[in-house]
Amino acid sequence: MPEYSISQLGKFEECALQYKFLYVDKIKRYEEGVEAFLGQRFHDAMEWLYKERAFRVVPLEELLEYYEKDWAKQWHAEVKIRKEGRTQDDYRLMGRRFIEDYYKRHYPFDEGCVLGLEKYIRFPLDDSGRYKCKGIIDRLMLAPDGAFEVHDYKTGSKLPDQAELDKDRQLALYQIGVQKLWPDVKEARLIWHLVAFDVEMRSMRTPEALDVLKKEIGELIDRIEAATEYEPHESPLCDWCPYWDLCPVKKHLVKVEALPKDKWKDEPGVVIVDAYAERWRKKRELDTEIKGVEGELDELRDAAISFAEKEGVQVIAGTEARLRVTGKERNVWPAKGSAEREALEQELRAAGVWDEVSTLDASALEKAVAEGKWGPDVLERIKAYVSTEKRYTVTLKEEA
Ligand code: SF4
Repeated sequence: MPEYSISQLGKFEECALQYKFLYVDKIKRYEEGVEAFLGQRFHDAMEWLYKERAFRVVPLEELLEYYEKDWAKQWHAEVKIRKEGRTQDDYRLMGRRFIEDYYKRHYPFDEGCVLGLEKYIRFPLDDSGRYKCKGIIDRLMLAPDGAFEVHDYKTGSKLPDQAELDKDRQLALYQIGVQKLWPDVKEARLIWHLVAFDVEMRSMRTPEALDVLKKEIGELIDRIEAATEYEPHESPLCDWCPYWDLCPVKKHLVKVEALPKDKWKDEPGVVIVDAYAERWRKKRELDTEIKGVEGELDELRDAAISFAEKEGVQVIAGTEARLRVTGKERNVWPAKGSAEREALEQELRAAGVWDEVSTLDASALEKAVAEGKWGPDVLERIKAYVSTEKRYTVTLKEEA
C-alpha cells in the first residue's frame, strides 16, 4: 500500500478528480498560485535562518536579502496571481513583512534545540502497518522542558480559531509520526506560526483524540484504495486547480476562452447554450405568467364555491361559459411518517390486509441501496430485480 501525506488525503476529499490527475495519473503541472509561491519562499527563509543558527544568528538584513534572492531565482511564468489589481511586488513585500515580524518576535531563536528542518518523516499509522503515512515537518524542536514541538508556518490570510486548530489533522498526524519514530517522547506540542497576523497558536492532543484520528484516516485511505470513479467536485478551490484543460466541468470554458471573442458565437457548444438560455428565459417568463393566472384561478375557484354554497346551485352561468361546482366527501389518510400513519399500518397488519394495500417505495429502496444499509446477501438477492439507466438533468445557470 502506498504512503499517504496529509495533503494527498485532503486532496481526495476536496476533489477526487484532481486527486486522480495528481496522484493516480501523475500529470505534472508547473502552475502554482502566488500564495503558495510566497509560502514556499517564507519556508525557505526559515529553513536557512535555523540552519545558520547552529553557527550564528543571521542579521535581519541578511535574512531579507536571502529571501529577495530566493524570490527572484524561483519566480517563473507559471506563478498565477488571481486577485485582480495585485502584483508580484505586492506579494513579495508581504513576505518581507512576515519575515520581519517573525524575526522580531523570535529573536535570538534560542527557544529550544532544532531536531529537524523540513524534516521528512515516514511512519505506519497503525500497529499492523497496514496504513502508511508520510509528511514534512517545517521545524521539529526539543523544548527546554523535554517536550517535542512540531512547528508549522502558515502564510495564509485566514486566522483559524482555536477549535479549528484543535481539530487540525496535519500536525496531529505529524504527532502520531513523531511518537512512532521516537517512542520515548513524553509530550508533544503542536505549534502554528500564523505569520500574516504575527500570531502563534498551540494545541495538544490526547491519546484518545489521536486514536480517533488514526481510525478516520484509516477509513479515508480505505475509501481512496477502493475508488474506481473520481468525480469532479466544484468549489472555490477550483481557482487554484491546474487541471482545467482536463476537467469536464472546466475544459469547455478553457476552450471557448481561448477563442477570439468574435468567434465565440459560432462555437457548437456556445450555439447550443445560447439557444437553450433563450428558450429557458422565455419559459421562465411564461411560468411566471402561468403562476399569476393560477393564483387568479384559485381565488375565482374559492369565490365560485362560496357562491354555489350560498345560492344552493351546482352550475353557475357566465356569458360564454358555465361553471359546475360539485362537492364530494373524500377520505384523508394520515401523512407518511406520522404517528397516526404508523398506527394505521399496524391496524392494517393486525387485520391481515396489509399486503393488499402496501406498495413498494422505489425511492426509499434506491436510497437504502445507495447508502449500503443492507448487507451484501440482501443486495445480491434484490440485484435480479434492478436494471440501470443513465438519467440526465439539464439545468441552466445564468451568468451573473
Ligand atoms: S477544476 Fe475543480 S472540479 Fe475540476 S478537477 Fe480541478 S478542483 Fe476538481
